[in-house]
Amino acid sequence: MQHTNIESILIVGGGTAGWMSAAALAKILGREKVKIRLVESEDIGTVGVGEATIPQIQRFNIMLGLDDNDFVKKTQATFKLGIQFVNWRKQGHSYIHAFGDVGIDVDAIPFYHYWLKLNHTNPDADIGEYCLNTSAALNRKFMRPINNPNSPLSNIPYAYHFDAGLYAKFLRQYAENLGVERIEATIDQVNLRDSDGFVESVTLKNGKQLAADLFIDCSGFKGLVIEEALKTGYEDWSHWLPCDRAWAVPCASNKAPTSYTRSTAHSAGWQWRIPLQHRIGNGHVYSSKFMDDQEAKNILLSNLDGEVLAAPKQLRFTTGKRKQFWNKNCVAVGLSSGFMEPLESTSIHLIQSSLAKLISLFPTKDFNQANIAEYNRQTHFEFEKIRDFLILHYHVTERDDSDFWNYCRTMEIPDSLAQKISLFRSTGKIFRESYEMFSELSWFEVMQGQGLMPSSYHPLTDLTDDAVLHERMSKIRQAIKTSVDLMPFHEDFIAQHCAANKM
Ligand code: FAD
Repeated sequence: MQHTNIESILIVGGGTAGWMSAAALAKILGREKVKIRLVESEDIGTVGVGEATIPQIQRFNIMLGLDDNDFVKKTQATFKLGIQFVNWRKQGHSYIHAFGDVGIDVDAIPFYHYWLKLNHTNPDADIGEYCLNTSAALNRKFMRPINNPNSPLSNIPYAYHFDAGLYAKFLRQYAENLGVERIEATIDQVNLRDSDGFVESVTLKNGKQLAADLFIDCSGFKGLVIEEALKTGYEDWSHWLPCDRAWAVPCASNKAPTSYTRSTAHSAGWQWRIPLQHRIGNGHVYSSKFMDDQEAKNILLSNLDGEVLAAPKQLRFTTGKRKQFWNKNCVAVGLSSGFMEPLESTSIHLIQSSLAKLISLFPTKDFNQANIAEYNRQTHFEFEKIRDFLILHYHVTERDDSDFWNYCRTMEIPDSLAQKISLFRSTGKIFRESYEMFSELSWFEVMQGQGLMPSSYHPLTDLTDDAVLHERMSKIRQAIKTSVDLMPFHEDFIAQHCAANKM
């Protein structure tokens, strides 16, 4: 059988999504058989935020063959071991949702059940004391994992905080070196084929037309191709994720960078703090139904670590997802595919995951509908699982000090999330569904961090004698503490391995 292979791809947009797509496709498809072009408009610009990531991004960088230190230097990056949530459960309370393991599972029973068992009768140590990433983050430590499976230091999953503009620039250089052609222009019109409504070409403001077999829509929130031309439709989730605006502002950094992102809840949303080598990225994400723009801006500006470095920028969005992510010969990647707000730094991951699925379901010119349907099925599933995880943060709270929190605490939630909460509340059990992104441990850390404690725990933990359990728990805590003591400070690690040029 002869395939009618894709010969040309047009990437519409040059933000993080556009340049990640260009880099990945150029690396995998090569320059010989497929022509890849990217159009971006400096007049329109990019969203300019999106600086915290999750560990999966390392796989993306490895696939591209990037050197980790070089990447950190060129993007003014720091390392991230998790996210600290301040004031989310109630004012004055904080917890960390860390990457990586918590304790050690015994006989296939997850560790957290043993912790719950001890907690049931007698409050046990903070769960964070059993997690290397949490303990290291709170002590501002960081190192890359070592190659010794017997040491807790062999398991330190990490991500990055980086400068979004520098990241796009870095990937642009990479993609152009692999033959991607960049066209600086504004697209005026998207042209559909009369016969089947597929995208045929785009017309630029200067009148030039660019045709391609496959279009990757990375044009941001508006979805120039997937929505404005193909009218695919959008599923609005703002009744579950009510934040719809953000103010973002960089400020000077006067202290050594933390090895975690901080998310501080306010009365109608939350504020991010993302430390980079040359500055701190800050933003206040809020619901315009519950707070006006000026108040949101004032809150942001009065909660900064240092001098403001640029004028605050406002962003507006509607949380939700596209009704189809792949429609005809157009695949929406990045903000054009949907946006669920930045609370768990999942958007850049969704770009990466869209690209991985696109590669594994890569089409021919026939655009087999079963292939497209499978891509959409997998992506809907992924979005919905992340959505549930995000809603959990808002819904499971003791906060009753504002209309916003009263709304979130009492709102109807998706059945899938209600079922997960109900199982945990009554049995302490959590299950990860097929290729859902967040692990049982992530769910556990956030559920218990937000104050949801189950009335029971796994019955098989009773097979372990309490005295033996106490001793085991104490050994784990000690091993974590000893390991964290050995780790260098985050700033020292950066200075030694990957300090960026001063800006
Ligand atoms: P954009 O950056 O908007 O890029 C769109 C591109 O399309 C631009 O190059 C533009 O010029 C081009 N374009 C548009 N129209 C035309 C036209 N007519 N002709 C030519 N070119 C055109 N993600 C995370 O993972 N972590 C975070 O911490 C995080 N924080 C966020 C905070 C906020 C408040 C928001 C809103 C998002 C955040 N995100 C975060 C998401 C992240 O910013 C995006 O996923 C990422 O930047 C990708 O954006 P994009 O490339 O899809 O869109």
